[in-house]
Amino acid sequence: MVRGALGDVDAFLQSASDVVIVSHINPDGDAIGSMAAMGHIVRALGKRVTFVHETGVPQRFSFLLDAPCVAYDAQMNPHAYVICVDCASLDRIGAVQRMCHGAVLNIDHHATHNYVVPLAASTTHVLMDVLRHLRVPLTQPLASCLYAGLLTDTGGFRFRSATADVFAVAHELVCAGADAHALAFRLLEQKTMQHVHVLSRALQTLSFACGDKVAWVALDREALAGAAEDDIEGIVHIPTTIAGVHVGVLFKQKDDHEVKVSLRAQANINVAHIAQQFGGGGHIAAAGCTVYDTMERAIQRVIAAVCAVL
Ligand code: 5GP
Ligand code: MN
Repeated sequence: MVRGALGDVDAFLQSASDVVIVSHINPDGDAIGSMAAMGHIVRALGKRVTFVHETGVPQRFSFLLDAPCVAYDAQMNPHAYVICVDCASLDRIGAVQRMCHGAVLNIDHHATHNYVVPLAASTTHVLMDVLRHLRVPLTQPLASCLYAGLLTDTGGFRFRSATADVFAVAHELVCAGADAHALAFRLLEQKTMQHVHVLSRALQTLSFACGDKVAWVALDREALAGAAEDDIEGIVHIPTTIAGVHVGVLFKQKDDHEVKVSLRAQANINVAHIAQQFGGGGHIAAAGCTVYDTMERAIQRVIAAVCAVL
């Protein structure tokens, strides 16, 4: 079912009285903003809500949720009504899939699912349609959660997805009480101490190849010690955003023979093709893969593959 299937949302919410709300592993601002916003919407309809997540909620985003988020464990009972937000496919929710034992409502801005607006900038953007359809009032806490997803999924209104429509929605949300300055500071500007340490280590490794058209940074296990995934967020932008660089790469050592690679393209270069050569994938401008080799060899192999297409 595609755009316009708001009847699915009605049918689901009419029969449910108690709803579990989930989102994807390694959640971003849109995932948590959408969970929190869906919580407000479902509660406004007089239903009970439980937030569940497999990997937990990054500290940066936890203030958006107004109720605790239960960490999934295998003993948890299956649930008849699960709402899944911001997930391109159900397997993105990880082990929480085992809780889905009945109706699952997927609301997303990626392809497929019950209610999807594929061109929407964020899942919270899609939720604007849902709340209007359900005639749920746009309260200040709800507006803040929706704004959080819109802000983070458009890279602070910098991506191509930041269309006039997005700014119109942002206007409506700010009018409803979303604090644009406070949310931008907490969600985009503020850094953890660990992030700054990781950044410092990454900068020490900054290297160039292919006439400075490729730049990369590498974080070995020692550099990553004590850093959460959230602390590494944004590091890949450091090599990528240098003027003249076409492809930026981040190498993260997971084990002696396992290196996670993130590739980002600035110019018209398809980094998904490069990631696919190593069994990975992604999008034209942002892709990733895991290389089962030493750090040194992984860097050598991936940089050679990038240089081959420049
Ligand atoms: P990131 O570099 O942020 O981990 O991932 C960037 C993009 O590449 C994301 O859209 C992600 O889905 C995709 N991606 C990252 N790693 C892999 C991988 O190992 N396999 C596939 N198929 N896609 C990946
Ligand atoms: Mn999203």
